[in-house]
Amino acid sequence: MTLKFAAIAWLAAVLAGPVAAAEPEVVVYSARKEHLIKPLFDAYTEKTGVRIRYITDKAGPLLARLKAEGPRSPADLLLTVDAGNLWHAAQAGVLQPVHSDVLKGNVPTHLRDPEDRWFGLSVRARTIVYDTRRVQPEELSTYEALADPRWKGRLCLRTSKKVYNQSLVAMMIARLGEKRTEEVVRGWVANLAAPPFSNDTKALEAVAAGRCDVTIVNTYYFGRLMKAKPDLPLAIFWPNQGEGQGGVHVNVSGGGLTAHAPHREEAVALLEWLSGPQAQRMFAGLNMEYPVNPAVAPTAEVAAWGDFRADPTNLAKAGEFQARAVMLMDRAGWR
Ligand code: FE
Repeated sequence: MTLKFAAIAWLAAVLAGPVAAAEPEVVVYSARKEHLIKPLFDAYTEKTGVRIRYITDKAGPLLARLKAEGPRSPADLLLTVDAGNLWHAAQAGVLQPVHSDVLKGNVPTHLRDPEDRWFGLSVRARTIVYDTRRVQPEELSTYEALADPRWKGRLCLRTSKKVYNQSLVAMMIARLGEKRTEEVVRGWVANLAAPPFSNDTKALEAVAAGRCDVTIVNTYYFGRLMKAKPDLPLAIFWPNQGEGQGGVHVNVSGGGLTAHAPHREEAVALLEWLSGPQAQRMFAGLNMEYPVNPAVAPTAEVAAWGDFRADPTNLAKAGEFQARAVMLMDRAGWR
């Protein structure tokens, strides 16, 4: 009996031991789409020999899965979009802090969790896009100014159900306070030319089709659409550039180490590499975003949109004020 048990234990050790030692791996749960992460993972495996296994899904289901799996989860890293989602993951306890000088050096303070549980890896600006036939850029100034009655029947927006808009409004609450933000949002709703759209691309297409004159979208959707249809009469405007106006609302895609990461060391090394110069250009460039690492320049096609001053407020506020933002948008009638 004892011998038999010993033999089984020996066999198990032979099977499991060398495999784990020879083939280090990292398991990633990613809400960032496969075509945006696979080239990076392939490059990392090529460079280090570390195998990366991953699944992709929407942010909500991945968070639910991590919670349900608890300590038995095979996941090491969570990658997702929007600070609102990263903040929720941290609040839900599925992430653990990583105190890394590399990450602190590569990721600006306002684009990572003050408690080191998540780090931005790419930056997207949520900015104004206008119809170049019907709007002069001089007519535009701030997000708040789009609440002015002069824009009545001329504004298109995406649904308030999308976390991108919840984060935009949450960051406005952080900057302007709840009362002023509600006035602005009510003004936007009063100016809508059409019911809110299900995604940014549809809002852009509505402007191009003449249904409205101006909208608020993430820059990479603009980039994608203009790449497919370069003749569309659309242009980017960078709002809130004046002194004391806060700057353009930016957000991140990013990641964090899971609370029970089985391959902690390898996962931290991958996260650090993703924030470094070699990976950053690819990570941002694949989706026409801005590198989070200020030492890395955006691609030429993104740089062509021009420089802007970004809101320097820590993005954790997008999570902290999210519930208030959702209620505010509901009160104001933004569907
Ligand atoms: Fe998106």
